[in-house]
Amino acid sequence: MTGFLKLVFRNRLAALGAVVLAAILILALVTPLLPLADPDIPATADRFKPPFSEGHLLGTDHLGRDLLARLLWGTRLSLAVGIAAALIAGTIGSAIGIVAGYFGGRVDNLIMRGVDMLMAFPYILLALAIVAALGPGLMNALIAVAAVNIPFFARNIRGVTVGLAGREFIDAARLAGMGHTRIILTELLPNVASTIVIAMSTTVGWMILETAGLSFLGLGSQPPVADLGSMLGEARAALITDPHTSVVPGIMIFLIVMSINLLGDGVRDALDPRLRSGALTRPRAVTLVDRKGHIPADDQNGLLDIQALETQFHVNRRIFRAVGGVSLHVKPGEALGIIGESGSGKSVTALSVMGLVASPPGVITGGAVRYAGEDLLAADYRSLRRKRGENVAYIFQDPLSTLHPLYRVGDQLIEAIQAHHRVTTGEAHARAVELLKAVRIPNAESRIRNYPHEMSGGMRQRVGIAMALANDPDVIIADEPTTALDVTVQAQILALLDELRRERGLAIVFITHDFGVVAQLCDRVAVMYAGRIVEEGPTATILDAPAHPYTRRLMACVPELGQGKRELAAIPGLPPVVSDLPPGCAFAPRCDKATDACRAGEVALEACRAGVNAPYGSATHKVRCLHREATPAREEATT
Ligand code: ADP
Ligand code: MG
Repeated sequence: MTGFLKLVFRNRLAALGAVVLAAILILALVTPLLPLADPDIPATADRFKPPFSEGHLLGTDHLGRDLLARLLWGTRLSLAVGIAAALIAGTIGSAIGIVAGYFGGRVDNLIMRGVDMLMAFPYILLALAIVAALGPGLMNALIAVAAVNIPFFARNIRGVTVGLAGREFIDAARLAGMGHTRIILTELLPNVASTIVIAMSTTVGWMILETAGLSFLGLGSQPPVADLGSMLGEARAALITDPHTSVVPGIMIFLIVMSINLLGDGVRDALDPRLRSGALTRPRAVTLVDRKGHIPADDQNGLLDIQALETQFHVNRRIFRAVGGVSLHVKPGEALGIIGESGSGKSVTALSVMGLVASPPGVITGGAVRYAGEDLLAADYRSLRRKRGENVAYIFQDPLSTLHPLYRVGDQLIEAIQAHHRVTTGEAHARAVELLKAVRIPNAESRIRNYPHEMSGGMRQRVGIAMALANDPDVIIADEPTTALDVTVQAQILALLDELRRERGLAIVFITHDFGVVAQLCDRVAVMYAGRIVEEGPTATILDAPAHPYTRRLMACVPELGQGKRELAAIPGLPPVVSDLPPGCAFAPRCDKATDACRAGEVALEACRAGVNAPYGSATHKVRCLHREATPAREEATT
């Protein structure tokens, strides 16, 4: 609850609304205790006194009644009616909605068509008709306002309930022998409660306005008792000569409705997890680049060259350093592996290359990404967009979520081709068939008419690869493309990628968490931990003699066939949260070799010393660790 309040109050406008509304509510509550004049007794001698006159702080109205007293009593009445109407409409509407959504079928149809009939009438006309039928009076105005708002709640809550009613926990409750009433009250209601609260908090303001509107027309509260609407109505005649009589209730209505709406919006944002995480704000077309430090110069390291890249997520006031200064490069025809536990920043690194990290909250705060020497982070959107797919293409983990379920795979391939090339659909179609053949899909001519769900997982991933190849890119970034597949299909996909690389001279950046995959495909490998590279070098060297304790632990997690009874050593502890990294080596808290020096300060990524763990003194084998001791296997080899 305190967490919820904190969330609400972090929104300044909501906090302001809450303060104003609280003040008004307190005033309304203590009104009977205040030394006020009687609001309903006229004193014709004191007509139309201006504000701040003696004994009448806000002046008097056309019958000489004290405006302050009438205002406070009127506010009480307006608030009471508005809130009561919201509660009634909310309760009845939600009950209708839950019942309709839970039972579905004919019950749902019957109820919702009735609700639709109510909704078919213009809102305020319906309220007027109800009051006309029942006769004027505050109570009848309340009934009218509540009645016209019931459909709104019913529709809203039904929508949410329908989504919940088919879920497993409802089935489980049914299997447990619970009756309908009990399921609705104990299983459904708690789950839709937040929607009800949101709907109410955003509509109370409306209902107060509607009641005021009816009273203004003389259909609500009857003289001499006044609510805010009837005060406005009575002041109408003196609007020009004595404006204070209208301004006073007008300001109060404004304050009440504004504060309720501001607070209501704040409550909705705090309760709605989608809004809270910013999912409804559309991400920008390119990741925001806000580089503070100096931009590294081109050192012509490869076709794609990532230099000291830093990517962060700015969520509220927390900063997640997902990528903290990563440098990598690939040459044409080379396969680079990036390996690390999940959450180590592999995907964010890969997405940063083409500015695909969602912003907000993502921001690239430092470094450079050079493609053939050109800094992509400085490129304008149009040239970057041309390069996406044309020069650098991606393959993602789950082909089921990257392929559109409602389009045939052929159409999606054709679209990918036509996005970059002005070719006729016929030509694009021929090219699409060719691509499917290139990724070894049998019967490409008929398969091209399949929908994604008609294909197997491996087949879908082949389509994903075909799509990446559609525009003959030079670099393919594959983000765990085989993680969702079984081992035999994985082997086929890896073999395919390897063949394509040799045939077309592709540079491949292959992200995985599996050392076996790296061994099969990659020439070089970079090990990532907590957003940084902790070890990098030729695959064979690292597999033979890993120098970083993390790499060794990671390799120890891989089961091997024919190794007899070997204990699989899981790495103890969890990867650190990247918003709160320790000062020294990020792996120190989980490392059994860690000393105070490790925790003290920055550890550099340095070439392995000759003779220690790389007997040939490989300058390409770099490691970020103070304890790079030799692995036993390598020691034997050197002695
Ligand atoms: P992986 O290595 O598994 O691909 P990611 O690159 O996806 O890991 O994520 C790296 C880090 O970035 C994670 O620790 C995660 O907490 C953080 N991160 C990713 N997306 C967001 C986001 N939208 N908001 C905040 N943090 C994020
Ligand atoms: Mg990932």
